Amino acid sequence: MQNIRFNAIQTVLNRQKYEVHVPTERISEYFGSNVFNDEAMRKHLSTEAYKSVKQSIETGAKIERAIANQVAVSMQAWAISKGATHFTHWFQPLTGATAEKHDAFFSLTDASRGIENFSGDALVQQEPDASSFPSGGIRTTFEARGYTAWDPSSPAFIMEIGKGKTLCVPTIFVSYTGDALDYKAPLLKSYHFLASAALEVCHYFDKHVSRVFPTLGWEQEYFVVDEALFYARPDLLMTGRTLVGHASAKGQQLEDHYFGSIPSRVYAFMLDLETEALKLGIPVKTRHNEVAPGQFECAPIFEDMNLAVDHNQLLMDLMDRISRRHKLRVLLHEKPFAGINGSGKHCNYSLATNTGNNLLAPGSTPRRNLQFLTFFVNIIKAVHEYSDLMRAGIASAGNDHRLGANEAPPAIVSVFIGSSLRQVLEEIEERVDKGAFDDQSIDLRMEIHKMIPDLMKDNTDRNRTSPFAFTGNKFEFRMVGSSANTSMPMTVLNTIYGQQLKNFKAEVDSIVKESDEKKDGAILKVLKRYIDESKNILFEGDNYSKEWEKEAAKRGLSNIKTTPSAFEVFTTKKAKAVFTNNNILSEIEIEARQEILLENYNHRLQIEARMMHDICINQVLPAAIRYQNELATNVKSLTDVGLEKETKPQKDLLKQISGHIQSIKSTVDDMM
Ligand code: ADP
Ligand code: MG
Repeated sequence: MQNIRFNAIQTVLNRQKYEVHVPTERISEYFGSNVFNDEAMRKHLSTEAYKSVKQSIETGAKIERAIANQVAVSMQAWAISKGATHFTHWFQPLTGATAEKHDAFFSLTDASRGIENFSGDALVQQEPDASSFPSGGIRTTFEARGYTAWDPSSPAFIMEIGKGKTLCVPTIFVSYTGDALDYKAPLLKSYHFLASAALEVCHYFDKHVSRVFPTLGWEQEYFVVDEALFYARPDLLMTGRTLVGHASAKGQQLEDHYFGSIPSRVYAFMLDLETEALKLGIPVKTRHNEVAPGQFECAPIFEDMNLAVDHNQLLMDLMDRISRRHKLRVLLHEKPFAGINGSGKHCNYSLATNTGNNLLAPGSTPRRNLQFLTFFVNIIKAVHEYSDLMRAGIASAGNDHRLGANEAPPAIVSVFIGSSLRQVLEEIEERVDKGAFDDQSIDLRMEIHKMIPDLMKDNTDRNRTSPFAFTGNKFEFRMVGSSANTSMPMTVLNTIYGQQLKNFKAEVDSIVKESDEKKDGAILKVLKRYIDESKNILFEGDNYSKEWEKEAAKRGLSNIKTTPSAFEVFTTKKAKAVFTNNNILSEIEIEARQEILLENYNHRLQIEARMMHDICINQVLPAAIRYQNELATNVKSLTDVGLEKETKPQKDLLKQISGHIQSIKSTVDDMM
């Protein structure tokens, strides 16, 4: 089946030409036109309301009810002027998708007259029927009360579906007792926690910085298949991946797909998708073919993390809706087809300051370079301390098939930094050991600065196989699966990095307080120790090789192969401590989350097993038995006319087919 499918995909994706409406204006003219963004807010809000929303974006501060009322009125006026008739709270429950429930602005004043109405109350809080979303026992169904609460830090937008337009208000989703039931609430907490820990460390180097925030640039990989072929495969339809079939004669061995010309139907889909994405303020920039046949990638310009996460959720939703318009289907599953590459979602991660600096980019001044080194070494140390938690953050049923398979990082977390930075770290270690920096007359920043410049020339030093790679001015987390809500891995990264920076600050401050060491000297001493302690997480070789698996085991690095074992990490003492101490997730929330994710995992596997059973019993076995009969009849007929000697190949085949029938039947029975 798979064989036919592949060859067909290649042809079908290229065959018909579809008309697409591409705006004639320049992108900059319609970019963000469906978003209640800074420009729209300046225009529609009072100065007081505008300032309050801005403050909330930067610090996470709450907005007063009176102001919320003002914002609601202006937001409604803006949305109605754009043709919106309904509004919805848009949220990210733990099902993985986004959720919405639409209400009309319209309400009745008396029996015959209507009015458009959207109050501060409706903006700030809603009570969706929460009983059908997973809660992991936090909220028992009989008290099915959860509510969505406005997140002013992510701007409202208008979603156009056909001719319908709906104002979507990004929200968090919590239980009646205030426990998080979604991905967004802990993400925001981890964002602000990291922001404040990083700001304090930043002040060692630069007092002018008043705000630090994490940035995220994701790269979304996906497969596209023709709708008719999609419907022809019940397994693809029900589980997002093919469960049976044999590999195509032509897979990706010729390496002729990557960066090749984009098939015309897919190109039309991409144009359509990009237009809608741009109107929603998603700064999509890159599109290209990926390695496997029918596989593609879409990537935006990186953004503030909170926004980037929402934008990725929105894009996945758009992909699904828009592909249907083109009689195509987008597959976001991590491994739709065995034997060829799976899909990931590389997450490029860094920290930015309000003054426009990237804290993970080497700079042109001695101050900037010591600062860079500080943030750089601390993130490596964080990954070293909590590599298991990072593994847990990306675990899913789909990703289990991808990790460690064709061109995907293995389940072992390691960090790639490149040879020149490795040398810098080694040199620092050596010089601190020798006491070379102890002389107070030495300008430490200048010394470090002298080591760094060469580095920039060697930016080509890249390793494509590393799960967590430094790529010149950011880290690229490559283990994240294509269908994942990036909130989870980002919450983990923010939390462990924030914790690490907090520890670092405490250590440096205590050295300065208790000895006559100057601040820079103390910083270097602590960094030196971190370099030493986290060495075994650094790996520059081929992560896909068998040797690495052995080497990693020798180094004591963990290699958690399956999702259920990865989820167990969430409830370890260490993981609970880092989440609860920093007020990211409470113990109850952690346990509920583990339960929900595990349940989701079990359901997925169960659906796959049932599907497999269904296909084997109802499609594969009947076909095999028909063929078996054909062979048997043929053998009999040949024997009847005296050609028994000629029947050996048929008899061999018959034995083979009968064997297959038996083994399919018994393994399928065992599975159920
Ligand atoms: P590739 O990994 O395909 O070689 P690039 O190096 O061009 O791609 O960049 C990949 C992604 O990294 C892009 O989406 C880009 O927006 C993002 N990116 C660049 N700088 C940062 C940053 N400071 N923080 C987060 N993401 C970033
Ligand atoms: Mg990449």
